[in-house]
Formats: sequence, structure tokens, C-alpha cells
Amino acid sequence: MAVIVKPAPVVTASDVVRFWKFVDRRGDNECWPWIGGTQFGYGRFKFHKDGKSDRRGSHVISYYLETKVWPIGKCVCHSCDNPSCCNPKHLWAGTDDDNQKDSAKKNRTANGYTRGFYLKHPDRVVRGENIKSSKLTEQQVLSIRKIYSAGGRSQQSIADEFGVDQTIISDVVRRVTWKHV
Ligand SMILES: [Zn+2]
Repeated sequence: MAVIVKPAPVVTASDVVRFWKFVDRRGDNECWPWIGGTQFGYGRFKFHKDGKSDRRGSHVISYYLETKVWPIGKCVCHSCDNPSCCNPKHLWAGTDDDNQKDSAKKNRTANGYTRGFYLKHPDRVVRGENIKSSKLTEQQVLSIRKIYSAGGRSQQSIADEFGVDQTIISDVVRRVTWKHV
């Protein structure tokens, strides 16, 4: 999540109307997904000014419309861990440091989502074989765990047998990966 460096945009009444057209406003405490364009999962709202366009994070604009405070030098963070959410109740402004601590606390994964997000949105989880770079099949994962739990084989020798790196075997047997199998 980026620290806001640009000054506040000029938001006209028609911008406000246009903005909310891109937000699927649901129940008070539910996530309000952005239905316009996104980048890295975050909604992007385009302002038109002097023939140029100025794109801003839609969650940032939502926060701004609600609080009337432009959080320059800070990040607007999601308590719900859903990057596209624009429900002001789920947004808070913090320093980059706050955000990183929050992220670490929530165990954010490499693609920006957190475990909490996946718990709420199980359909968004990319599992085992669906991951393009996955080198193993579900069947192989089951075999690896069976071989390893039987004992007497090192992770390296199993790795050699399956033609993968030892770290992949380690992750499989510790269920860091392929948890659903
Ligand atoms: Zn939310």
C-alpha cells in the first residue's frame, strides 16, 4: 500500500456522484467492492482535469469523502484486508510503519492479500495445481507425504526422486503448501 504523496485532488459534486457509481455499496458493515478499474487489486478512480486524467486509489478517495481529511504522508489501510473495498468503516489512515506492522501481524502473503482475507473469501485462494509454477500434482503431494511420514527417507532424496528442490518437499510435508490436500 502506497504512501500518499500527491496533494488532495479537487473533488467536484459530479466526481462524487461518479465515484459512488463504481462502488457496490452493501450492508453497513460489509465490504463495498470497487467495480471500476483496478491495479494490484486496488480500485483506481480517474479524475479529469484540464484535459488530463489523474488516477487515485478509490479507497483513498472514499476515506477522504468520509473524513474530509487528505492523509498525505500516510497510507489508507483496510481493516478487512480486501484491497478493493471502499466502505469507509473498513478504512484507516496510518503511517507506512503502522501499515507494515499491521501487515506482519496479519501475515500478509506475497500477493498482497492476508490469511484473514482468504478466510473471508475462500473462492479467491489459488490452490496447488492451479498455480502455474506448481511443479507437483495433487497425487504426487499425497505420495510425498506418505513416503516422508513412513520415515527413513531424507527430504533431499525425495526431492531428487520427484525432480524438485528440497525446499518444495519441506513445504509440502510441513503443509506450508498444499494445505488443502
Ligand atoms: Zn471491507
